[in-house]
Amino acid sequence: NLKSRFAPSPTGYLHLGNARTALFAWLAARAVAGRFVLRLEDTDQSRSPQIYEKALLEDLRWLGLNWDEGPDIGGPVGPYRQMERLDIYQKYYEALLETGQAYPCYCSAEDLAAERAVQRASGKSPRYGGRCRHLNEGQRSDLEARSIQPVLRYRVPDSGMLTVPDRVWGERSYALADLGDFVIRRSDGSPAFFFANALDDALMGVNLVLRGEDHLSNTPRQILILQALDLPVPEYAHLPLLLGSDGQPLSKRHGAASLRDLQFYGYLPEAVRNYLARLGHHYAETDLLDDQALAAGFSVEKISRAPGHFDVVQLQHWQRLALQALSDTQLWEWRDLQYALNDAQLWKRLLAANLSDIENGLREKILKAVSEDENLQIQFVAAVRANVLFPEDAVDWLIRCFADEAFAALEKEDTAIAALAETPAEFWPLAAMLLQQSAGDYRIWTKTLQQESGLKGKSLFMPLRAALTGRSHGPELAALLPLIGMERAQQRLHTAAS
Ligand code: GLU
Repeated sequence: NLKSRFAPSPTGYLHLGNARTALFAWLAARAVAGRFVLRLEDTDQSRSPQIYEKALLEDLRWLGLNWDEGPDIGGPVGPYRQMERLDIYQKYYEALLETGQAYPCYCSAEDLAAERAVQRASGKSPRYGGRCRHLNEGQRSDLEARSIQPVLRYRVPDSGMLTVPDRVWGERSYALADLGDFVIRRSDGSPAFFFANALDDALMGVNLVLRGEDHLSNTPRQILILQALDLPVPEYAHLPLLLGSDGQPLSKRHGAASLRDLQFYGYLPEAVRNYLARLGHHYAETDLLDDQALAAGFSVEKISRAPGHFDVVQLQHWQRLALQALSDTQLWEWRDLQYALNDAQLWKRLLAANLSDIENGLREKILKAVSEDENLQIQFVAAVRANVLFPEDAVDWLIRCFADEAFAALEKEDTAIAALAETPAEFWPLAAMLLQQSAGDYRIWTKTLQQESGLKGKSLFMPLRAALTGRSHGPELAALLPLIGMERAQQRLHTAAS
Protein backbone atom coordinates (compact mmCIF):
# COMPACT_ATOMS: atom_id res chain seq x y z
CA ASN A 1 0.00 0.00 0.00
CA LEU A 2 1.88 3.01 -1.28
CA LYS A 3 2.08 6.15 0.81
CA SER A 4 3.87 9.17 -0.55
CA ARG A 5 4.17 12.68 0.76
CA PHE A 6 5.09 16.24 0.03
CA ALA A 7 7.09 17.85 2.80
CA PRO A 8 7.70 21.50 1.99
CA SER A 9 9.29 24.08 4.21
CA PRO A 10 6.88 27.01 4.11
CA THR A 11 9.53 29.68 3.63
CA GLY A 12 8.19 31.36 0.52
CA TYR A 13 5.79 30.93 -2.36
CA LEU A 14 5.75 27.48 -3.88
CA HIS A 15 8.54 27.29 -6.43
CA LEU A 16 7.75 25.57 -9.72
CA GLY A 17 10.36 22.91 -9.02
CA ASN A 18 8.66 22.07 -5.74
CA ALA A 19 5.23 22.23 -7.35
CA ARG A 20 6.40 19.59 -9.79
CA THR A 21 7.74 17.47 -6.93
CA ALA A 22 4.39 17.73 -5.16
CA LEU A 23 2.55 16.80 -8.34
CA PHE A 24 4.75 13.75 -8.98
CA ALA A 25 4.40 12.53 -5.39
CA TRP A 26 0.64 13.00 -5.64
CA LEU A 27 0.42 11.22 -8.99
CA ALA A 28 2.52 8.34 -7.67
CA ALA A 29 -0.01 7.84 -4.86
CA ARG A 30 -3.08 8.33 -7.03
CA ALA A 31 -1.74 5.97 -9.69
CA VAL A 32 -2.10 3.03 -7.31
CA ALA A 33 -4.88 4.27 -5.02
CA GLY A 34 -2.29 4.91 -2.33
CA ARG A 35 -2.25 7.67 0.25
CA PHE A 36 -0.76 11.12 -0.04
CA VAL A 37 0.42 13.09 2.97
CA LEU A 38 1.17 16.77 3.32
CA ARG A 39 3.69 17.54 6.05
CA LEU A 40 4.98 21.00 6.87
CA GLU A 41 8.64 21.19 7.72
CA ASP A 42 8.44 24.42 9.63
CA THR A 43 11.42 24.00 11.92
CA ASP A 44 13.17 27.02 10.52
CA GLN A 45 11.05 29.35 12.62
CA SER A 46 12.72 32.52 11.50
CA ARG A 47 11.74 31.78 7.91
CA SER A 48 8.29 30.25 8.27
CA PRO A 49 5.79 33.04 8.58
CA GLN A 50 2.16 32.02 8.72
CA ILE A 51 1.31 33.59 5.39
CA TYR A 52 3.46 31.10 3.53
CA GLU A 53 1.75 28.13 5.10
CA LYS A 54 -1.62 29.48 4.04
CA ALA A 55 -0.35 30.31 0.57
CA LEU A 56 1.19 26.89 0.20
CA LEU A 57 -2.05 25.06 0.88
CA GLU A 58 -3.93 27.40 -1.43
CA ASP A 59 -1.41 26.92 -4.21
CA LEU A 60 -1.44 23.14 -3.94
CA ARG A 61 -5.23 23.16 -4.05
CA TRP A 62 -5.18 25.48 -7.03
CA LEU A 63 -2.95 23.00 -8.82
CA GLY A 64 -5.64 20.42 -8.11
CA LEU A 65 -3.85 18.37 -5.49
CA ASN A 66 -5.62 16.95 -2.48
CA TRP A 67 -4.19 15.07 0.47
CA ASP A 68 -5.45 12.33 2.70
CA GLU A 69 -3.58 13.57 5.75
CA GLY A 70 -2.22 17.00 6.47
CA PRO A 71 -1.95 19.94 8.84
CA ASP A 72 -5.40 21.26 7.97
CA ILE A 73 -7.31 17.99 8.06
CA GLY A 74 -5.26 15.94 10.51
CA GLY A 75 -4.89 12.19 10.19
CA PRO A 76 -3.93 9.07 12.09
CA VAL A 77 -0.21 9.80 12.43
CA GLY A 78 -0.19 13.55 13.06
CA PRO A 79 0.52 16.21 13.96
CA TYR A 80 1.62 17.21 10.45
CA ARG A 81 3.61 20.29 11.40
CA GLN A 82 7.10 19.47 12.62
CA MET A 83 7.07 22.17 15.27
CA GLU A 84 4.16 20.31 16.86
CA ARG A 85 6.17 17.10 16.94
CA LEU A 86 9.05 18.17 19.19
CA ASP A 87 7.99 15.78 21.98
CA ILE A 88 8.11 12.91 19.56
CA TYR A 89 11.63 13.81 18.42
CA GLN A 90 12.76 14.07 22.00
CA LYS A 91 11.92 10.43 22.65
CA TYR A 92 14.09 9.34 19.77
CA TYR A 93 16.97 11.61 20.78
CA GLU A 94 16.91 9.97 24.17
CA ALA A 95 16.93 6.52 22.63
CA LEU A 96 20.00 7.40 20.57
CA LEU A 97 21.76 8.97 23.56
CA GLU A 98 21.08 5.93 25.65
CA THR A 99 22.71 3.56 23.18
CA GLY A 100 25.59 5.94 22.62
CA GLN A 101 24.62 6.51 18.99
CA ALA A 102 24.31 10.23 19.63
CA TYR A 103 26.36 12.62 21.74
CA PRO A 104 26.32 16.30 22.65
CA CYS A 105 28.81 18.49 20.83
CA TYR A 106 29.98 21.80 22.25
CA CYS A 107 32.20 22.94 19.40
CA SER A 108 31.60 26.57 18.49
CA ALA A 109 30.94 27.79 14.98
CA GLU A 110 34.48 29.25 14.98
CA ASP A 111 36.03 25.90 16.03
CA LEU A 112 34.19 24.17 13.23
CA ALA A 113 35.08 26.77 10.63
CA ALA A 114 38.73 26.51 11.62
CA GLU A 115 38.60 22.73 11.36
CA ARG A 116 37.05 22.90 7.90
CA ALA A 117 39.64 25.42 6.75
CA VAL A 118 42.47 23.08 7.76
CA GLN A 119 40.80 20.14 6.04
CA ARG A 120 40.28 22.10 2.85
CA ALA A 121 43.85 23.34 2.87
CA SER A 122 45.07 19.75 2.96
CA GLY A 123 42.76 18.78 0.13
CA LYS A 124 40.31 16.79 2.25
CA SER A 125 36.59 17.25 2.01
CA PRO A 126 35.40 18.94 5.19
CA ARG A 127 33.60 16.89 7.82
CA TYR A 128 33.33 16.92 11.57
CA GLY A 129 36.50 15.45 13.06
CA GLY A 130 34.77 14.10 16.15
CA ARG A 131 36.34 16.23 18.88
CA CYS A 132 33.35 15.90 21.22
CA ARG A 133 32.96 12.17 20.57
CA HIS A 134 35.17 11.15 23.43
CA LEU A 135 34.43 13.70 26.14
CA ASN A 136 34.20 12.18 29.59
CA GLU A 137 31.58 13.13 32.17
CA GLY A 138 33.87 15.64 33.84
CA GLN A 139 34.65 17.48 30.60
CA ARG A 140 30.97 17.53 29.75
CA SER A 141 29.88 19.04 33.03
CA ASP A 142 32.64 21.65 32.69
CA LEU A 143 31.26 22.70 29.34
CA GLU A 144 27.70 22.63 30.62
CA ALA A 145 28.76 24.83 33.51
CA ARG A 146 29.88 27.42 30.98
CA SER A 147 26.28 27.24 29.76
CA ILE A 148 27.23 26.32 26.23
CA GLN A 149 24.15 24.89 24.57
CA PRO A 150 25.33 21.74 22.77
CA VAL A 151 24.05 20.35 19.50
CA LEU A 152 23.39 16.66 19.29
CA ARG A 153 25.40 14.66 16.78
CA TYR A 154 24.78 11.24 15.37
CA ARG A 155 27.78 8.94 15.77
CA VAL A 156 28.44 7.52 12.32
CA PRO A 157 30.00 4.03 12.36
CA ASP A 158 33.75 4.29 11.73
CA SER A 159 33.94 1.87 8.86
CA GLY A 160 31.83 0.06 6.35
CA MET A 161 29.85 0.99 3.31
CA LEU A 162 26.24 2.02 2.95
CA THR A 163 24.33 1.23 -0.20
CA VAL A 164 21.60 3.65 -1.04
CA PRO A 165 19.03 2.50 -3.58
CA ASP A 166 17.17 5.09 -5.62
CA ARG A 167 14.45 4.32 -8.13
CA VAL A 168 15.62 7.03 -10.49
CA TRP A 169 19.40 6.90 -10.05
CA GLY A 170 19.98 3.28 -9.14
CA GLU A 171 22.29 2.21 -6.33
CA ARG A 172 25.07 4.32 -4.90
CA SER A 173 27.53 3.28 -2.26
CA TYR A 174 29.04 5.52 0.38
CA ALA A 175 31.98 4.91 2.68
CA LEU A 176 30.74 5.63 6.17
CA ALA A 177 34.12 7.01 7.18
CA ASP A 178 33.56 9.90 4.76
CA LEU A 179 30.28 11.06 6.26
CA GLY A 180 31.38 12.63 9.53
CA ASP A 181 29.15 12.79 12.58
CA PHE A 182 26.30 15.08 11.71
CA VAL A 183 23.98 17.29 13.72
CA ILE A 184 20.55 15.88 14.51
CA ARG A 185 19.43 18.49 17.03
CA ARG A 186 20.35 22.15 16.92
CA SER A 187 21.56 24.02 19.99
CA ASP A 188 18.16 25.70 20.38
CA GLY A 189 16.59 22.27 20.69
CA SER A 190 14.97 22.23 17.27
CA PRO A 191 15.46 19.17 15.10
CA ALA A 192 17.90 19.21 12.21
CA PHE A 193 16.44 18.54 8.79
CA PHE A 194 18.12 15.13 8.33
CA PHE A 195 16.62 13.83 11.49
CA ALA A 196 13.06 15.14 11.60
CA ASN A 197 12.53 14.51 7.91
CA ALA A 198 13.64 10.87 7.99
CA LEU A 199 12.00 10.12 11.31
CA ASP A 200 8.67 11.59 10.22
CA ASP A 201 8.63 9.61 7.01
CA ALA A 202 9.12 6.42 8.98
CA LEU A 203 6.63 7.30 11.72
CA MET A 204 4.03 8.41 9.21
CA GLY A 205 4.29 5.19 7.27
CA VAL A 206 5.62 6.88 4.15
CA ASN A 207 7.17 4.24 1.93
CA LEU A 208 7.92 6.33 -1.16
CA VAL A 209 9.96 9.49 -0.79
CA LEU A 210 9.81 11.40 -4.02
CA ARG A 211 11.77 14.62 -3.78
CA GLY A 212 14.28 16.89 -5.49
CA GLU A 213 17.72 15.75 -6.59
CA ASP A 214 19.20 18.32 -4.19
CA HIS A 215 18.37 15.86 -1.40
CA LEU A 216 20.11 12.88 -2.99
CA SER A 217 23.26 13.37 -0.94
CA ASN A 218 21.24 13.60 2.29
CA THR A 219 19.85 10.13 1.83
CA PRO A 220 22.72 8.06 3.30
CA ARG A 221 22.60 10.02 6.55
CA GLN A 222 18.86 9.62 6.73
CA ILE A 223 19.04 5.88 6.16
CA LEU A 224 21.66 5.64 8.91
CA ILE A 225 19.34 7.32 11.39
CA LEU A 226 16.44 5.06 10.47
CA GLN A 227 18.61 1.97 10.79
CA ALA A 228 19.94 3.17 14.13
CA LEU A 229 16.39 3.53 15.39
CA ASP A 230 15.28 0.28 13.87
CA LEU A 231 12.69 2.07 11.75
CA PRO A 232 11.59 1.15 8.22
CA VAL A 233 13.51 2.75 5.37
CA PRO A 234 11.31 4.08 2.56
CA GLU A 235 12.03 3.78 -1.13
CA TYR A 236 13.61 6.91 -2.57
CA ALA A 237 13.15 8.52 -5.95
CA HIS A 238 15.00 11.77 -6.54
CA LEU A 239 13.70 14.02 -9.27
CA PRO A 240 16.21 15.75 -11.52
CA LEU A 241 16.41 19.49 -11.08
CA LEU A 242 14.12 21.88 -12.86
CA LEU A 243 16.14 24.58 -14.60
CA GLY A 244 15.39 27.63 -16.70
CA SER A 245 15.57 27.38 -20.50
CA ASP A 246 19.20 28.56 -20.31
CA GLY A 247 20.23 25.88 -17.84
CA GLN A 248 20.38 28.29 -14.92
CA PRO A 249 18.32 27.80 -11.75
CA LEU A 250 14.74 28.78 -12.45
CA SER A 251 13.89 32.36 -11.58
CA LYS A 252 11.56 35.19 -12.59
CA ARG A 253 13.86 35.89 -15.51
CA HIS A 254 12.52 32.76 -17.18
CA GLY A 255 8.98 34.07 -17.09
CA ALA A 256 7.96 32.46 -13.83
CA ALA A 257 9.49 30.95 -10.75
CA SER A 258 6.53 30.22 -8.54
CA LEU A 259 3.14 28.68 -9.02
CA ARG A 260 1.70 32.04 -7.97
CA ASP A 261 3.33 33.70 -10.95
CA LEU A 262 1.52 31.32 -13.28
CA GLN A 263 -1.78 31.85 -11.48
CA PHE A 264 -1.27 35.54 -11.76
CA TYR A 265 -0.74 35.40 -15.54
CA GLY A 266 -3.98 33.45 -15.88
CA TYR A 267 -2.77 29.97 -16.63
CA LEU A 268 -5.37 27.28 -16.11
CA PRO A 269 -4.43 24.73 -13.47
CA GLU A 270 -5.06 21.84 -15.86
CA ALA A 271 -2.57 23.38 -18.29
CA VAL A 272 0.03 23.70 -15.56
CA ARG A 273 -0.66 20.16 -14.36
CA ASN A 274 -0.27 18.72 -17.81
CA TYR A 275 2.89 20.70 -18.44
CA LEU A 276 4.59 19.93 -15.12
CA ALA A 277 3.63 16.26 -15.29
CA ARG A 278 5.64 16.01 -18.51
CA LEU A 279 8.69 17.82 -17.24
CA GLY A 280 11.02 14.92 -16.68
CA HIS A 281 8.32 12.27 -16.92
CA HIS A 282 7.29 10.63 -20.14
CA TYR A 283 3.70 10.27 -21.25
CA ALA A 284 2.92 8.61 -24.55
CA GLU A 285 -0.23 10.72 -24.91
CA THR A 286 0.22 14.17 -26.38
CA ASP A 287 -3.28 15.45 -25.65
CA LEU A 288 -4.57 17.11 -22.51
CA LEU A 289 -5.06 14.47 -19.82
CA ASP A 290 -7.45 14.67 -16.91
CA ASP A 291 -6.33 13.70 -13.42
CA GLN A 292 -7.29 10.07 -13.74
CA ALA A 293 -5.39 9.70 -16.98
CA LEU A 294 -2.37 11.58 -15.64
CA ALA A 295 -2.32 9.31 -12.61
CA ALA A 296 -2.91 6.16 -14.61
CA GLY A 297 0.00 6.96 -16.92
CA PHE A 298 2.40 7.87 -14.14
CA SER A 299 5.17 5.65 -12.93
CA VAL A 300 8.43 6.35 -11.16
CA GLU A 301 10.20 4.28 -13.81
CA LYS A 302 9.27 6.88 -16.43
CA ILE A 303 11.11 9.68 -14.63
CA SER A 304 14.07 10.87 -16.63
CA ARG A 305 17.50 11.56 -15.18
CA ALA A 306 18.07 14.60 -17.35
CA PRO A 307 17.30 17.94 -15.75
CA GLY A 308 13.97 19.45 -16.79
CA HIS A 309 14.02 22.79 -18.59
CA PHE A 310 11.19 25.22 -18.07
CA ASP A 311 9.87 26.27 -21.46
CA VAL A 312 7.20 28.95 -21.70
CA VAL A 313 6.34 27.97 -25.27
CA GLN A 314 5.48 24.44 -24.13
CA LEU A 315 3.51 25.75 -21.19
CA GLN A 316 1.52 27.99 -23.54
CA HIS A 317 0.85 25.00 -25.75
CA TRP A 318 -0.84 23.29 -22.82
CA GLN A 319 -2.69 26.48 -21.97
CA ARG A 320 -4.08 26.47 -25.52
CA LEU A 321 -5.21 22.86 -25.20
CA ALA A 322 -6.73 23.49 -21.79
CA LEU A 323 -8.67 26.47 -23.13
CA GLN A 324 -9.88 24.46 -26.11
CA ALA A 325 -11.30 21.90 -23.73
CA LEU A 326 -13.63 24.50 -22.20
CA SER A 327 -17.07 25.13 -23.64
CA ASP A 328 -17.94 28.69 -24.68
CA THR A 329 -19.92 29.16 -21.48
CA GLN A 330 -17.14 27.75 -19.31
CA LEU A 331 -14.68 30.01 -21.04
CA TRP A 332 -16.81 33.09 -20.34
CA GLU A 333 -17.23 31.99 -16.75
CA TRP A 334 -13.49 31.31 -16.37
CA ARG A 335 -12.79 32.83 -12.99
CA ASP A 336 -9.62 34.56 -14.14
CA LEU A 337 -11.44 36.11 -17.09
CA GLN A 338 -14.14 37.41 -14.79
CA TYR A 339 -11.47 38.93 -12.56
CA ALA A 340 -9.80 40.52 -15.55
CA LEU A 341 -13.08 41.98 -16.79
CA ASN A 342 -13.40 43.78 -13.51
CA ASP A 343 -9.78 44.80 -13.24
CA ALA A 344 -9.76 48.54 -13.85
CA GLN A 345 -5.97 48.64 -13.98
CA LEU A 346 -5.91 46.10 -16.76
CA TRP A 347 -8.42 48.07 -18.83
CA LYS A 348 -6.41 51.19 -18.30
CA ARG A 349 -3.34 49.46 -19.58
CA LEU A 350 -5.09 48.03 -22.61
CA LEU A 351 -6.70 51.31 -23.55
CA ALA A 352 -4.19 53.75 -24.94
CA ALA A 353 -2.79 56.51 -22.80
CA ASN A 354 -4.56 59.86 -22.26
CA LEU A 355 -7.95 58.33 -22.17
CA SER A 356 -8.93 59.61 -18.78
CA ASP A 357 -12.05 61.30 -20.06
CA ILE A 358 -13.26 58.63 -22.48
CA GLU A 359 -12.32 55.70 -20.37
CA ASN A 360 -14.47 56.92 -17.51
CA GLY A 361 -17.44 54.68 -17.53
CA LEU A 362 -16.35 52.80 -20.63
CA ARG A 363 -15.67 49.59 -18.75
CA GLU A 364 -19.00 49.70 -16.99
CA LYS A 365 -20.81 50.46 -20.24
CA ILE A 366 -19.26 47.58 -22.11
CA LEU A 367 -19.62 45.15 -19.26
CA LYS A 368 -23.24 46.08 -18.77
CA ALA A 369 -24.06 45.51 -22.43
CA VAL A 370 -22.31 42.16 -22.48
CA SER A 371 -23.39 40.88 -19.12
CA GLU A 372 -27.05 41.50 -19.87
CA ASP A 373 -26.99 39.45 -23.04
CA GLU A 374 -25.99 35.82 -22.70
CA ASN A 375 -26.13 35.25 -26.44
CA LEU A 376 -23.76 38.10 -26.96
CA GLN A 377 -21.31 36.58 -24.49
CA ILE A 378 -21.36 33.25 -26.24
CA GLN A 379 -21.11 34.88 -29.65
CA PHE A 380 -18.14 36.87 -28.42
CA VAL A 381 -16.37 33.90 -26.88
CA ALA A 382 -16.96 31.77 -29.95
CA ALA A 383 -15.51 34.51 -32.15
CA VAL A 384 -12.35 35.26 -30.20
CA ARG A 385 -11.47 32.06 -28.36
CA ALA A 386 -8.89 30.83 -30.83
CA ASN A 387 -7.04 34.10 -30.27
CA VAL A 388 -7.14 34.03 -26.52
CA LEU A 389 -4.41 32.52 -24.39
CA PHE A 390 -4.78 34.66 -21.28
CA PRO A 391 -7.66 36.58 -19.72
CA GLU A 392 -6.22 39.86 -20.87
CA ASP A 393 -6.37 38.76 -24.50
CA ALA A 394 -10.11 38.31 -24.10
CA VAL A 395 -10.49 41.73 -22.46
CA ASP A 396 -8.50 43.25 -25.27
CA TRP A 397 -10.85 41.77 -27.87
CA LEU A 398 -13.84 42.79 -25.83
CA ILE A 399 -12.65 46.38 -25.91
CA ARG A 400 -11.87 46.16 -29.60
CA CYS A 401 -15.34 44.84 -30.37
CA PHE A 402 -17.44 47.02 -28.15
CA ALA A 403 -15.66 50.33 -27.59
CA ASP A 404 -17.10 53.31 -29.42
CA GLU A 405 -15.22 56.62 -29.05
CA ALA A 406 -12.32 54.98 -27.27
CA PHE A 407 -11.58 52.78 -30.24
CA ALA A 408 -9.95 55.56 -32.19
CA ALA A 409 -7.52 56.05 -29.34
CA LEU A 410 -6.70 52.35 -28.97
CA GLU A 411 -3.18 51.38 -29.73
CA LYS A 412 -2.85 50.04 -33.26
CA GLU A 413 -0.26 47.58 -34.46
CA ASP A 414 2.36 49.05 -36.78
CA THR A 415 1.38 46.61 -39.51
CA ALA A 416 -2.22 47.75 -39.17
CA ILE A 417 -1.20 51.39 -39.46
CA ALA A 418 0.82 50.58 -42.57
CA ALA A 419 -2.13 48.78 -44.15
CA LEU A 420 -4.32 51.82 -43.54
CA ALA A 421 -1.72 54.16 -45.01
CA GLU A 422 -1.46 52.13 -48.22
CA THR A 423 -5.17 52.19 -48.90
CA PRO A 424 -6.60 54.94 -51.14
CA ALA A 425 -8.84 57.40 -49.29
CA GLU A 426 -11.82 56.81 -51.58
CA PHE A 427 -11.95 53.17 -50.47
CA TRP A 428 -13.38 54.00 -47.05
CA PRO A 429 -16.64 55.81 -47.90
CA LEU A 430 -17.28 53.07 -50.44
CA ALA A 431 -16.72 50.39 -47.81
CA ALA A 432 -19.04 52.17 -45.38
CA MET A 433 -21.75 52.59 -47.97
CA LEU A 434 -21.63 48.98 -49.15
CA LEU A 435 -21.72 47.77 -45.58
CA GLN A 436 -24.96 49.65 -45.16
CA GLN A 437 -26.31 48.28 -48.43
CA SER A 438 -25.47 44.70 -47.55
CA ALA A 439 -27.18 45.16 -44.19
CA GLY A 440 -24.06 43.96 -42.43
CA ASP A 441 -23.89 40.64 -44.27
CA TYR A 442 -20.15 40.02 -44.30
CA ARG A 443 -20.05 37.83 -47.39
CA ILE A 444 -22.16 40.14 -49.54
CA TRP A 445 -20.34 43.19 -48.21
CA THR A 446 -16.83 41.98 -49.01
CA LYS A 447 -17.90 40.56 -52.38
CA THR A 448 -19.43 43.79 -53.58
CA LEU A 449 -16.58 45.77 -52.09
CA GLN A 450 -14.11 43.67 -54.04
CA GLN A 451 -15.99 44.25 -57.27
CA GLU A 452 -16.39 47.97 -56.78
CA SER A 453 -12.96 48.80 -55.39
CA GLY A 454 -10.92 46.45 -57.52
CA LEU A 455 -8.97 45.44 -54.39
CA LYS A 456 -8.79 41.82 -53.42
CA GLY A 457 -7.04 39.35 -51.18
CA LYS A 458 -4.65 40.82 -48.71
CA SER A 459 -4.99 44.36 -50.01
CA LEU A 460 -8.71 44.18 -49.38
CA PHE A 461 -8.88 42.29 -46.11
CA MET A 462 -5.87 43.72 -44.35
CA PRO A 463 -7.13 47.34 -44.41
CA LEU A 464 -10.60 46.19 -43.36
CA ARG A 465 -9.17 44.25 -40.45
CA ALA A 466 -6.93 47.16 -39.53
CA ALA A 467 -9.78 49.64 -39.65
CA LEU A 468 -12.20 47.46 -37.73
CA THR A 469 -9.89 46.01 -35.10
CA GLY A 470 -6.67 48.04 -35.07
CA ARG A 471 -4.77 44.80 -35.49
CA SER A 472 -3.32 42.90 -38.41
CA HIS A 473 -4.21 39.47 -37.04
CA GLY A 474 -7.04 38.08 -35.05
CA PRO A 475 -10.34 36.25 -35.15
CA GLU A 476 -12.31 35.82 -38.36
CA LEU A 477 -13.62 39.21 -39.46
CA ALA A 478 -16.90 37.56 -40.39
CA ALA A 479 -17.35 36.56 -36.76
CA LEU A 480 -16.25 39.92 -35.38
CA LEU A 481 -18.44 42.06 -37.62
CA PRO A 482 -21.77 41.16 -35.97
CA LEU A 483 -20.21 41.94 -32.59
CA ILE A 484 -18.85 45.28 -33.70
CA GLY A 485 -22.22 46.01 -35.27
CA MET A 486 -23.25 48.30 -38.07
CA GLU A 487 -22.96 51.58 -36.26
CA ARG A 488 -19.50 51.12 -34.78
CA ALA A 489 -18.20 49.51 -37.96
CA GLN A 490 -19.32 52.45 -40.07
CA GLN A 491 -17.78 54.88 -37.66
CA ARG A 492 -14.48 53.02 -37.76
CA LEU A 493 -14.44 52.89 -41.57
CA HIS A 494 -15.03 56.62 -41.74
CA THR A 495 -12.32 57.31 -39.17
CA ALA A 496 -9.89 55.20 -41.18
CA ALA A 497 -10.14 57.63 -44.08
CA SER A 498 -8.67 60.48 -42.03
N1 GLU B 1 11.53 20.29 3.62
C1 GLU B 1 12.36 19.72 2.62
C2 GLU B 1 12.37 20.64 1.41
O1 GLU B 1 11.45 21.42 1.25
C3 GLU B 1 11.81 18.36 2.25
C4 GLU B 1 12.73 17.48 1.51
C5 GLU B 1 12.08 16.15 1.30
O2 GLU B 1 11.11 16.09 0.53
O3 GLU B 1 12.51 15.19 1.90
O4 GLU B 1 13.30 20.64 0.65
